[in-house]
Amino acid sequence: MNITITDYIVLVIISGVLSVLLALYAYFMKTNFSGTKAFIWSSAFSAIYTFAFVFELSSDSLQEIRFWLNIEYLGLPFIAPSSLLLVLHYIGMEKFAAFRRGWVLFVIPAITLIMNTTNDYHRLFYKVLYLRENTPTPMIDIFPGRWYFVHGAYTFGCLLVSIFLLVVHTRKSSSVYRKQNFTMILGHLLPMLGALFYVLGMTPLGMDPVPIVMCVTSALYIWAIVSAGMLTVAPIARDHIFESMRDGVLVLDLSGKIFDYNSAATAIIPSLSPAAIGKTIEQVWKRGADTGVFEGDLNDTSKQEYEHELKWIKGGETYYYRVRSSKLLNTKGEIAGRTIVMIDMTEHMQLQNKLRRLAEIDGLTGIYNRTHFMEIATEQLRQARISHAPLALILIDIDFFKSINDRFGHSVGDLAIHHVVSLAKSIISPETSFARYGGEEFVLCVPDTALGQALQTAEQLRQKIASTPLISGSHTISITASFGVTEAYQSALPLESLLHEADDALYFAKRNGRNRVIAAGSIEPQSESAATVTGV
Ligand code: GH3
Ligand code: MG
Ligand code: MG
Repeated sequence: MNITITDYIVLVIISGVLSVLLALYAYFMKTNFSGTKAFIWSSAFSAIYTFAFVFELSSDSLQEIRFWLNIEYLGLPFIAPSSLLLVLHYIGMEKFAAFRRGWVLFVIPAITLIMNTTNDYHRLFYKVLYLRENTPTPMIDIFPGRWYFVHGAYTFGCLLVSIFLLVVHTRKSSSVYRKQNFTMILGHLLPMLGALFYVLGMTPLGMDPVPIVMCVTSALYIWAIVSAGMLTVAPIARDHIFESMRDGVLVLDLSGKIFDYNSAATAIIPSLSPAAIGKTIEQVWKRGADTGVFEGDLNDTSKQEYEHELKWIKGGETYYYRVRSSKLLNTKGEIAGRTIVMIDMTEHMQLQNKLRRLAEIDGLTGIYNRTHFMEIATEQLRQARISHAPLALILIDIDFFKSINDRFGHSVGDLAIHHVVSLAKSIISPETSFARYGGEEFVLCVPDTALGQALQTAEQLRQKIASTPLISGSHTISITASFGVTEAYQSALPLESLLHEADDALYFAKRNGRNRVIAAGSIEPQSESAATVTGV
């Protein structure tokens, strides 16, 4: 590059003017972006440095150059740390950039300023300063002192950290903001590379390219402000909201490929990573057997908008999500894709299930309570009538239960209730609804079963109870129960009336000696022994 000193000075002046313009623009724009102040400061420091540099270039003597060098250091050491502050704000880590913590970043620059100004007394910043020979304008060269290296390393360090944070942020943030992110990265990378070339002596005439590079970066910033709304609060705030949402969000493009997602989504779908961008949900979600068992689907490709439940059993735990898919419109109102929001309903569903259990289950025995039985049996009866299938009801009452309580105590009475329940459970079919009807009374609703078969079941249970005494401590307690059985075949009676019939039969069994099974409508006792029950 054949660049004259005048071109160089002109470019440096342009760079300074652009820095001032940027600082003024940011100052008067009054945006809500929390990093605006850091941007104003970094632009102002750049402007101080650049203009002082112009004066340094146009100086005639070492003394004059030294003076402008001192002015340059009012800006130069502070540019990189204030840029880092800007980046911290930009990527949403502003809590680290607050004055309470952020001032720490300026300790070394402040020492650098002092070291540079007082160098004549200690020579820790420059060992020697001298005028170079054969240059078109008087220029200085230096032998760096110890603190000069600290200053250099610190400046490079700040820029490197800024670039690193921006790159990480860009990988994660929505592509809508890529333009701004790249501008920010270039804004840090170019001056760093410029300084590196300068330090390595790879620049024409040994000139410092950083002020010129800053001209380019300032122009980039202006372009990003105008074209991508950089320095407005919106992108950062929106990213923040997106990230801090407790609901998982997936953004899909028109072809159903993942375009973006938030951290809550990664908590739900651990296989979501930056590598998932550009893949379909199915490729990421149902990968491998370890992802569990699903009821419902996360992605219904047949519809743009839907809302449904998703039950997901993973790692032995059951999770419930409400999945809501909505159209995503671009600024022109055209469909640009879809968002899938996953709302974690697990706690809510667990609570609901617990409440339902409490409302349906008898606390002592763990079988249905009477209220729930009435609901279920009503439905079973309705189904039986629709399909013209038989259905039987069996009422059971433990005989002389009061005397068990009286002789052995209430807690043994409870054990006796448990005992009868577990004996019944070992006999009945899974389709049978079994409930505690009252204190020591139970009810069974047996679908697809006619009276004869129900009598057999009741008889089987009667015998089992009678032949299986309850062992409690040193006591062996014989228990018997009485049964009333009815069937709903070819009758239009409601459930309550059928139960009434069974209760009448049970009452009859009690009056006729207990420990027996009686069919409704028959006055004949069906058994004291098994022989009176058909088929036993
Ligand atoms: P019967 O043969 O005529 O049925 O005589 P019974 O003693 O069983 O008479 P009844 O059915 O009237 O008595 C039921 C008793 O059950 C009354 C009540 O003290 C007792 N009971 C009700 N619920 C419970 C319970 O949860 N635990 C215990 N231990 N006893 C209960
Ligand atoms: Mg009883
Ligand atoms: Mg009773």
